[in-house]
Amino acid sequence: MIPLCVPNLAGREREYLNDCVTSTFVSTVGPFVTRFEEDLAKATSANYAVATCSGTSGLHAALLTVGVGRDDLVVAPAFTFIATANAIAHTGAMPWLFDVDETSWTIDVTRLASALARETERREGRLIHKPTGRRISAIVPVFTLGTPADMDALRELARAYQLPLVVDAAAGIGARYKGRELGQLGADMTMLSFNGNKTITCGGGGGLITNDRALADLAKHITTTARVSTDYVHDRVGYNYRMTNLEAAVGCAQLEQLEGFLSRKREIAATYADAFRSIDEIAQFPVPDDRQSVYWFSGFVFEPEEGIDRAKRLIAYLNKAQIGARSFWRPIHMQAPYVEAPCEAQPVTERIWNRIVTLPCSTHLSQAEQAWVIENVKKWFAHGG
Ligand SMILES: *Cc1c(COP(=O)(O)O)cnc(C)c1O
Repeated sequence: MIPLCVPNLAGREREYLNDCVTSTFVSTVGPFVTRFEEDLAKATSANYAVATCSGTSGLHAALLTVGVGRDDLVVAPAFTFIATANAIAHTGAMPWLFDVDETSWTIDVTRLASALARETERREGRLIHKPTGRRISAIVPVFTLGTPADMDALRELARAYQLPLVVDAAAGIGARYKGRELGQLGADMTMLSFNGNKTITCGGGGGLITNDRALADLAKHITTTARVSTDYVHDRVGYNYRMTNLEAAVGCAQLEQLEGFLSRKREIAATYADAFRSIDEIAQFPVPDDRQSVYWFSGFVFEPEEGIDRAKRLIAYLNKAQIGARSFWRPIHMQAPYVEAPCEAQPVTERIWNRIVTLPCSTHLSQAEQAWVIENVKKWFAHGG
């Protein structure tokens, strides 16, 4: 089987893990954790980084850090992985779900601006969502497939409505927007995931980056049981969201390979794009000209007039040929825990989500393997699907 997207451990992972065992620093304290945070901040051009045990827990902690609380509403796209909504729900808040735009598949800022103007008002210094009476306490754009959202426009809206901007860039390491790197996009905090299917993995893990010292310190505090001293004094409900030295060891070795991994991801996506250019029924994943995607996943989307069963049938066909093709995210408003969440119209999300096919794109995918994937996709289309 050619897997969809699996870790590439070609660097010093084994060596660094051996260091952990030799030194006995395998748990939540150790030199690799500190180094990983420094390396991550450097790799993203951010001032500070806080390592966490997963992307989800990192996003949860970031939302708590910027003041999201029980019964609040948090703006988010419906087209995202369930973890975005879960992190919001873990604070006791609820997502307010928006559509994505056609050109980037990230949150539609025009629709967001008009909904904020139409459906909110300020009461006693709080921004209230009029239909539900809930306080709105943050905006969480998601960098779909590693493509940045329209951060300048979002920054402006966030400023106008005095809302913190917390980015879910789970798979966004290496992405650029108007030439700027992840840590320089105007977000208050940005979450990254280092789960096994992301470009850089720690096995499992996450990270928060920010340029605000106070936010970094508070996030660190919340994710380390809110301890104020070594004699078991804690000043709020904290979490054990720390990354272990073992995970950070893998992460440090992975970050050393970041540039190579990113260029492989781009190359794989470009090779598929070239190979499939002549197939009319499908389109590439969209990337606006002012943004650099990291092509976390490669694949394509069936054109709107093509039935959704075509994507499903192609995936089944490829799976039979031992190719790890897959569908992509089922939107949040179609998920049982969130059917009650306030939700704007979703024309783009509903058109794309079940027409997407993702294809093998591990950074160590061989040319022969990719050629085999391409051959099988072409064969399927040549025979009329
Ligand atoms: C992977 C992912 C997450 C969750 O990260 P974990 O490390 O698995 O908790 C959240 N949001 C998005 C968009 C993701 O792709």
